[in-house]
Amino acid sequence: MYYSKERLEEMRKKGEEDLKEITEGSKEECAKYQSQPGIQITCLHCKHDLFIEGKALLNTRGLTFFGLDWMNQSATTLICSHCGFIHWFMKEVKRVD
Ligand SMILES: [Zn+2]
Repeated sequence: MYYSKERLEEMRKKGEEDLKEITEGSKEECAKYQSQPGIQITCLHCKHDLFIEGKALLNTRGLTFFGLDWMNQSATTLICSHCGFIHWFMKEVKRVD
């Protein structure tokens, strides 16, 4: 496939912008968290204490069938900003500023 010089330049710029967005976005998302008041969450793998918060939906027909409707909700995921280990919480976690 042939790309013109202008097209390649455009793609390169777009890539740089996307990368900038990802790195800037994750930097400001990094924070410390507590699972309960006074209980600081540290990474199970590397003991780091800065995480990037996310949400994951646990919605499956199978769970409803087995009477596990309580699991059909969103879980909170905390991704260790140091090693990337993902921690799952079925309860709210508190961000510590
Ligand atoms: Zn870690």
